Amino acid sequence: MTLRRGFKAESERIAKDIWDAMGLEAHDRMDAVALAQHTGCVVRSADTLVDIAKLKELKRIQDDAFFACTFELPNGRRAVVFNPLMSDTRRNSDVAHEVAHILLNHRLSRLERLGDVGFLSCDKQQEEEAGWLSGCLLLPRFALVHDLKRRMAHATIATNRVLSEDMVEYRVRVTGVARQLAASRRKRSS
Ligand SMILES: [Zn+2]
Repeated sequence: MTLRRGFKAESERIAKDIWDAMGLEAHDRMDAVALAQHTGCVVRSADTLVDIAKLKELKRIQDDAFFACTFELPNGRRAVVFNPLMSDTRRNSDVAHEVAHILLNHRLSRLERLGDVGFLSCDKQQEEEAGWLSGCLLLPRFALVHDLKRRMAHATIATNRVLSEDMVEYRVRVTGVARQLAASRRKRSS
């Protein structure tokens, strides 16, 4: 599956606009819960809806069964629900993923259930788009350039920004930023 033309550039623009609107600069870190609230969502830990014992049981049966989900409240507002048993980096990435769906106006089309709560998920194309945009929201190109120009290690970037190292490496790879910086360094030194 491929992303439609222009989607990648558009995602970076959306991320930049939101960082600006939230008053964040390149060295700052994006907190996905604050991001969700900024976009008008209610954010809840799943243990406010489902007994924590049930969540633990679910995680024991299948570790990756549930990360985060979105559903619509009776008043029309979106609620993003995250699993409190997951790590901070996981929560950051999962909540940002849900926000990406919302920003892209994805229609939630598949009903799933978490305990007694029904929620909706999206189709494959939309999953890919949300995956891409959430990466931009958490680590936009300009923030990655900022860190790499200071020759920060991927692990340091990950720790500072509460992201997994996998996420940092993925963004370095797909943005082509490292190659671009290396080329400009070569140019300067020649
Ligand atoms: Zn999704």
